Amino acid sequence: MATLEIKDLHASVVTDEGAKEILAGVNLTIRSGETHAIMGPNGSGKSTLSYAIAGHPRYKVTSGEVLLDGENVLEMGVDERARAGLFLAMQYPVEVPGVSMSNFLRSAATAVRGEAPKLRHWVKEVKDEMGKLDIAGEFADRSVNEGFSGGEKKRHEILQLSLLKPKFAILDETDSGLDVDALHVVSKGVNEFRENNDAGIMLITHYSRILKHVEPDYVHVFAEGRIVESGGKELADDLEANGYMKFTGQAEPAK
Ligand code: ADP
Ligand code: MG
Ligand code: MG
Repeated sequence: MATLEIKDLHASVVTDEGAKEILAGVNLTIRSGETHAIMGPNGSGKSTLSYAIAGHPRYKVTSGEVLLDGENVLEMGVDERARAGLFLAMQYPVEVPGVSMSNFLRSAATAVRGEAPKLRHWVKEVKDEMGKLDIAGEFADRSVNEGFSGGEKKRHEILQLSLLKPKFAILDETDSGLDVDALHVVSKGVNEFRENNDAGIMLITHYSRILKHVEPDYVHVFAEGRIVESGGKELADDLEANGYMKFTGQAEPAK
């Protein structure tokens, strides 16, 4: 049983004009086996929250804490965070020209596990997981995310998740840009991952449709840099029907 605690987290994005505060005191505790959906309008700071936890250099934590089993995550380097069991699937996965997917995945697995996976087992493991995610074998030799469609990038993120088996996964809009078939494949991958690993998940989404496939234990409404309301999955239905308006004062339907 592991615990990820976010306590009164404040963070700013660093731009050419200086630092701008985005996170205005986020409090959230996620335990192993729990799925927390974070739903909020565009620009409310959801990705900033994921980057602040993952340690993106552009996002500066100005106060507050992030603890993984009591250990201060904010003092760890990005690679240490991964070794400690944190994983971020980015909203916009980066392209890495010249690095094949198979090399990238093996390096990542080596870094997280502390030793290189045995080649024979590894090849089979990757092949099995790629099969489950409907990723064609030829992708193993392609440069990471280069020229991938939106849906292919998202599937690749879930492939990493299933191979790296983190304790806690932050999935930032993993559902956006997916057609119905890809949404099913990705949701199945997430469900299989969380069931097999008793992992904790922060599922960031703008739309409630993925929550029909990946059922959350808790739903949190995120607005203006913090959680403004928490509830069960019925809260997502309320958002779908009524939008975020009553939480933000602006009319923006959730779908
Ligand atoms: P969300 O993921 O909820 O759509 P973001 O965290 O991406 O929200 O953005 C929150 C706010 O921070 C927005 O106003 C956005 O314009 C600003 N922001 C985020 N990243 C940057 C950046 N790299 N440079 C400038 N502004 C940024
Ligand atoms: Mg956005
Ligand atoms: Mg975002």
